[in-house]
Amino acid sequence: MRFSRFLVHTTKETPSEATLPSHIYLIRGGFIQSVGGSGLYNFLPLGKKVLDRVERVVKEELDRAGCQEVSLSFVTPASLWQESGRFEKYGKELLRFKDRKENDFILGPTHEEMMVALVRQSVKSYKQLPLNLYQINLKFRDELRPRFGLMRGREFLMKDGYSFHTSIEDMQREFALMETTYKKIFTRLGLDFRVVEADSGAIGGSGSKEFMVLADSGEDTIVVCDGCEYGANIEAAVRRERACEAEAPEAAFAKFYTPDVKTIDELSAFFKVDPYYLVKTVAMRALYDEGRSEVVLFALRGSDELQEVKACNAVDANDLIEITEEELQEIGLVPGFMGPRVVPDGVRVVLDETLKEASSMICGSNEKDYHLVGVDLKDAKTEYFDLVAVQEGDLCAHCGRLLRYTKGIEVGHIFQLGTRYSDPLGCNFLDENGKSVPMVMGTYGIGVSRLLAAIIEQHHDDSGCIWTKESAPFDRIWSNKRFVDADPAAYTVFAA
Ligand SMILES: [Zn+2]
Repeated sequence: MRFSRFLVHTTKETPSEATLPSHIYLIRGGFIQSVGGSGLYNFLPLGKKVLDRVERVVKEELDRAGCQEVSLSFVTPASLWQESGRFEKYGKELLRFKDRKENDFILGPTHEEMMVALVRQSVKSYKQLPLNLYQINLKFRDELRPRFGLMRGREFLMKDGYSFHTSIEDMQREFALMETTYKKIFTRLGLDFRVVEADSGAIGGSGSKEFMVLADSGEDTIVVCDGCEYGANIEAAVRRERACEAEAPEAAFAKFYTPDVKTIDELSAFFKVDPYYLVKTVAMRALYDEGRSEVVLFALRGSDELQEVKACNAVDANDLIEITEEELQEIGLVPGFMGPRVVPDGVRVVLDETLKEASSMICGSNEKDYHLVGVDLKDAKTEYFDLVAVQEGDLCAHCGRLLRYTKGIEVGHIFQLGTRYSDPLGCNFLDENGKSVPMVMGTYGIGVSRLLAAIIEQHHDDSGCIWTKESAPFDRIWSNKRFVDADPAAYTVFAA
């Protein structure tokens, strides 16, 4: 087709709500069109070409890895979500509606229930497993504040895959295969990315990994090592344990008068002791199901900062909220003088794991104007978890080089699900002994439309979009009366 016949609707105006290069250039270059500024977008011919090419790369690599493509009904009966318990729990981002017969339906933001329903109808025996099914389909999430164009729209194109297995070991084999496959996909798309651990993982390995495209405009802060491949979300990052060059304070266990000495800095100056040997105690209220809550004291070294997501996971709470000074005093805790050693009844104590072997520590006494010195936390009958927020300059646990922060755009997520959905939804198979057991699942997502934004966040100049080789809308262009291979930079569509 002649370019003159091609619908390329470029505009000079920068959309008022657009702040990111990808949002501005995709609209100004005529790739997408905003539908009433409501987080919905039409793909114009140029944008659709790019979307199809990105989709093709995703599909080719998945098919090569033995995954099978299906297409699930876009509208989901609410009954499936009621079976899994998510219908009530999911917030307002879930679009719920009724049909003319007053039956409840939803537009799926994800399709675990639907895929489980498909498999439980068609798979009965261990002989039919393993199975990895995926679709590339529209999803809807009723975002309160849709923004950044394709990065956080309400409607988006997603690849969602689900695998079904007879054992955890087999699911973990597939999980590793999907990690390799995703790396191939993002490499083919010409992206600079990192695979990051997305939760701390109870048994060393991570059960959840995210694929982050490195870009200054990324919404997520990630911790990366330049010495090795290590990367993690800030709430999952781990480090080599810090050492302290300063001498430990020598003192026998005693209560010490410390009038008005409240902060770590004041305490450090008062005792002339490195904060490494002080205990920082943070009181939070942990919220659980059915309105239940409890007060938890999280204690860590004075030189460290509390990572609240880690803290929340440590007590298995839904959320952590701050506690007012008045509330603390009612419980019998004194702000500035709190400590984990002897605590009022009903207060739970969780210690950071670096305090497990700690001795000669100084901590609050839970009594106004007094601290305890010579505290040994070795024998404390308490719970230890990693509670620490990794800082830039901490050392990599794997190779010992410096860790640093960077920004990333999440474009993929792989997750070891286990039986979280197959159990409540009764997705069982008959094992070799004829026993009915729930299938073990993994789930694997890629934000396909978001990838367009991620490519441009990483590849653009002052004139607009620069597509990578496998995402460019055209491979060859007509130039000097013949077709020539085009440099991807030539696909910059000027918005002027
Ligand atoms: Zn490293």
